[in-house]
Amino acid sequence: MSTINTGDIADGTIIDGVHYHQFDIVIVGAGGAGMRAAIEAGPHAKTAVISKLYPTRSHTGAAQGGMAAALANVEDDNWEWHTYDTVKGGDYLVDQDAAEILAKEAIDAVVDLENMGLPFNRTEDGKIDQRRFGGHTREHGKAPVRRACYAADRTGHMILQTLYQNCVRLGINFFNEFYVLDLIMTEVDGVEEPAGVVAYELSTGDLHVFQSKATIFATGGFGKIFKTTSNAHTLTGDGVGIIWRKGLPLEDMEFFQFHPTGLAGLGILLSEAARGEGAILRNAEGERFMERYTPTLKDLAPRDIVARSMATEIREGRGAGPDKDYLFLDITHLEPAVIDEKLPDITEFARTYLGVEPYTEPVPVLPTAHYAMGGIPTNVQAEVLRNNTDVVKGLYAAGECACVSVHGSNRLGTNSLLDINVFGKRAGKAAIEYVKTAEFVPLPENPAGGVKNILDMVRAGDGTERIAAIRKELQVSMDRNAQIFRTDESLEEVTNLIQSLRGRYRNIQLHDKGKRFNTDLLEAVELGFLLDLAEVLVFSARSRKESRGGHMREDYPDRDDENFLVHTMAYLTGDPESEEAGDHIRLDWKPVVITNYPPMERKY
Ligand SMILES: Cc1cc2nc3c(=O)[nH]c(=O)nc-3n(C[C@H](O)[C@H](O)[C@H](O)COP(=O)(O)OP(=O)(O)OC[C@H]3O[C@@H](n4cnc5c(N)ncnc54)[C@H](O)[C@@H]3O)c2cc1C
Repeated sequence: MSTINTGDIADGTIIDGVHYHQFDIVIVGAGGAGMRAAIEAGPHAKTAVISKLYPTRSHTGAAQGGMAAALANVEDDNWEWHTYDTVKGGDYLVDQDAAEILAKEAIDAVVDLENMGLPFNRTEDGKIDQRRFGGHTREHGKAPVRRACYAADRTGHMILQTLYQNCVRLGINFFNEFYVLDLIMTEVDGVEEPAGVVAYELSTGDLHVFQSKATIFATGGFGKIFKTTSNAHTLTGDGVGIIWRKGLPLEDMEFFQFHPTGLAGLGILLSEAARGEGAILRNAEGERFMERYTPTLKDLAPRDIVARSMATEIREGRGAGPDKDYLFLDITHLEPAVIDEKLPDITEFARTYLGVEPYTEPVPVLPTAHYAMGGIPTNVQAEVLRNNTDVVKGLYAAGECACVSVHGSNRLGTNSLLDINVFGKRAGKAAIEYVKTAEFVPLPENPAGGVKNILDMVRAGDGTERIAAIRKELQVSMDRNAQIFRTDESLEEVTNLIQSLRGRYRNIQLHDKGKRFNTDLLEAVELGFLLDLAEVLVFSARSRKESRGGHMREDYPDRDDENFLVHTMAYLTGDPESEEAGDHIRLDWKPVVITNYPPMERKY
């Protein structure tokens, strides 16, 4: 087998059929976080962005409602109120130093985008307009505040296009439709250090090794572990799964956000911007039920509370429809002109997918799996953590795949588009500083060997199990057992199912054995990541015997600060294929950083 030494591979060298590349900085993912990092890094170092999708197809482009920043353009506001709301919204599991950075750097993040050419909606006097969003308030919870900057209900689309155009302007190297399947680690002085990544090229089926001094993961979320989700088909959590398989920790995986307003039966999102513009949630009796749960903020309470209230309404028999299993989002009292100007896309979704006319009829809605609060743990420099205190040198993560943690146990709407810009930029900056002095870490022998083995195993698949069937069983069970309400019993049920699905996964059937555009093969690999991430989510959720933010344990209904005001850190310690369910995961705890806001009861 060939040995590859530092510095002796020119770009494009092919050894044993594997292509070799060398970049100072490799960024995995071309969503908002990845491209924001690239804009920072590209002008100063040889940078590559590797993406399984064409950049402008990344999920950031589906974001609708807005990006938070206390600009105070239309109402009194400041970053300290924004920090407070973020901490309280996250049910006090937020690292408060990180939330301060998020809220402070929000202003520059918006100005940066504006300077790059992003067409935000404007006020009459030409300033960036701002709208309301759940949990964002003035004067520490007194009333909703207009803090979300937006471009109609396609803010993410505008952000993604703007960032991509600027990457093109800067001549960033893109490798599109390349699936990263492994992080290469080499042991240096007894410590495993990142040396680059291995990617699979969709159009040819060839493998590529990218050697890099710094590697940034920006691979987005993994909503596809659930059936009802707002997330795109591609959000299978590959990046988070790769880090997990390296034995590095994942933080706060039990916290997954269920957004209140997915289209009933489909999960397609209707942005909270609708409620920001005045939409009202109603039950079958037409009652504005949120008045009972959160009298001050009503429909604009944080998402965990609204989603839980909706689930309670349905449980108690006040749902609509023949099966009393959905609720309504009502915008019929808004002027059609306002709807057309500010909510054009989502009203079109209601017409197209449900055949409902939002001008005159309330829209059937249900909570939908939306956002991973947990993920790859990092510090505020976006450096990936090896344990509670030490970083992995040269490895960074930003965006939804990362856990800084600015969202704690429940993210506020519009704080993610902000997060990807603030911490994407920070990751780019930190990587640039690092590569100024860092050397390439030598590649191990046969760096693509691990990926080859996985692909060979999957490709050989001539068993009897269908990939889609296994995925669906996983998703259905996650919806039933690990969604808004959880108990030890329900979590045990899905744990056992995952264990049996693993057995069936080893016996899959692959129809397409070809090399070119073999999406069958990649779906099989992605399913492996979905199984891993569902399992660690459920394991962490069983261990957290309290209710906080997006994690509601019916058998432990109260928040328990004495025992659980800590982050979970889960580690893979053995081979999930060969042991009993649960035994191959170890859980540790990490303190929460508290600066100015001691935990209080959460009232809205
Ligand atoms: C429908 C919807 C509406 C939303 N609305 C809002 C909103 O209004 N405001 C808000 O703040 N947040 C919103 N969010 C959340 C927010 O959009 C996302 O959390 C955020 O955009 C994620 O950005 P990202 O850069 O981390 O990941 P993404 O934009 O998802 O990009 C991930 C990238 O990683 C790449 N990738 C993944 N795996 C691999 C691999 N194995 N190899 C190579 N590349 C890979 C993909 O190709 C992609 O380029 C919304 C989310 C959804 C789903």
